[in-house]
Amino acid sequence: MTDAPDKLRCDACPVMCFIAPGQTGACDRYANASGRIVRTDPLVLLERAAEAVPFVADGWDGNAVRPAEHFVTGIGAGTTYPDYKPAPFIVSSEVEGADLVTVVTEAIFSYCGVKVKIDTDRHLGPEMAVVRAKGEAVGHVTTGEYGSQMVSLGGVRHLTGGSKSEGRVTCEALLALCNGEAVELEIEGGSRVVVQAGEAPIVDGVRETRMRVGCGSATIGMFASQWQGLVDEVVVVDDHITGVVSEHQAGKVLGWEDTGIRVKGAKSTPGRYFRVAEPGTGWGGTDLSDPLDILGEWRAKKGARAGLTMLMVSTTGEHSAYYVLDDNLLPVETELPEALRGSVERIAENCEPALCTVLFMGGAGGSLRAGVTENPIALTRSVQDRRAYLTCGGAPVYVWPGGGITMMVDVTTMPEGSFGYVPTPALVAPLEFTLRAEVYAGLGGHTGAVRSLDDVRAEGGEYARENREEGASGENPWPLTLT
Ligand code: SF4
Repeated sequence: MTDAPDKLRCDACPVMCFIAPGQTGACDRYANASGRIVRTDPLVLLERAAEAVPFVADGWDGNAVRPAEHFVTGIGAGTTYPDYKPAPFIVSSEVEGADLVTVVTEAIFSYCGVKVKIDTDRHLGPEMAVVRAKGEAVGHVTTGEYGSQMVSLGGVRHLTGGSKSEGRVTCEALLALCNGEAVELEIEGGSRVVVQAGEAPIVDGVRETRMRVGCGSATIGMFASQWQGLVDEVVVVDDHITGVVSEHQAGKVLGWEDTGIRVKGAKSTPGRYFRVAEPGTGWGGTDLSDPLDILGEWRAKKGARAGLTMLMVSTTGEHSAYYVLDDNLLPVETELPEALRGSVERIAENCEPALCTVLFMGGAGGSLRAGVTENPIALTRSVQDRRAYLTCGGAPVYVWPGGGITMMVDVTTMPEGSFGYVPTPALVAPLEFTLRAEVYAGLGGHTGAVRSLDDVRAEGGEYARENREEGASGENPWPLTLT
């Protein structure tokens, strides 16, 4: 950080704000406090509580309790952008007699975005449709997954390749989603959907409750034996594969009789139909409000007869209807018999709760590596071959194989408020690289800048004004592991 008359210059990002005494910079993450540039948020340390040793084994050292342990996260650590000097914290610790080093920083990500998995069968919009927030393009619809619609938001093109407003709104939306807040998205040619990590999506004002049990064909496979003897035909309506039990492999194996049913749509294999209707927010993710629209004339020569019964049901059990063929072989809706009600409820019971999942994805292969080692490629290689264990706010990450350090993390596994931003625009995320001390020295690490954990807990850092210790999530592996 550099002095200027009355003001101090923050050089933690390329904006290089001049900050007046008592004021914060453009991102609110740094302030001029008593003639010093400081981080406005506390440095977060995770604490693993002391634990009783479960049993006494050979080599027991006499302690019945494993003492509390601490881990310095990148949250509130500050950054040494553009990394011409060592990272804000390089911390030594000892685990099971081995010396470890954790290099801690808050990384600035221009190359980043989120992948959002939205558990719903409802059609949110066509693949590749533009996704907007506050009217700005912030991403697109990508390939659907089993029971979920997927959107990809952010990325360097939306952050920095379009108008200023597009970049700002994209950054805002990413920051909110990564910090667990709700964001309303509008999909061109589709729906409005409110997404929030760990919460149910709200599609066109309706909160989604269930994720489908499977496609129509899978539903037939799961429940065909339970329907046999209770009904003559079952059609499971689904935007992907609509299943017809009498024609389906499962029905055939069970000895199901032909019914003379005729289903409109593209036949894939027996009892499995694609494109029976347009995608939508009706039955099974189609635009159907009346499922009979997908049926043609019943064929007497193929088994249709007056009195034949049929259940039509969606893949979540949300929609169901029961019909009996009249003398003209026309289906007439009648009340669902009690014996079949249980099977519809069983479909619903087998659906998992619908949730939104937000994965932050970013590339950590840039200049921040120079804050770790004098030889940046050595860090890349050590992450790739797992000699360095990478965490994000202490949470485990998935590192993509291949070149660079391209990683993904589930934002709900990270401490609250882990993410920040700078107005370049880019997201700021905590990163920690943990590796054995001898490996760190071998890859040209800044060994002269290593500090003990006790020293960091007592003294903080150059920018960190205060520390905050919080309990580590019991669902994450403890980040100080031997690699
Ligand atoms: S935007 Fe924030 S990080 Fe960047 S120079 Fe200003 S105060 Fe520092």
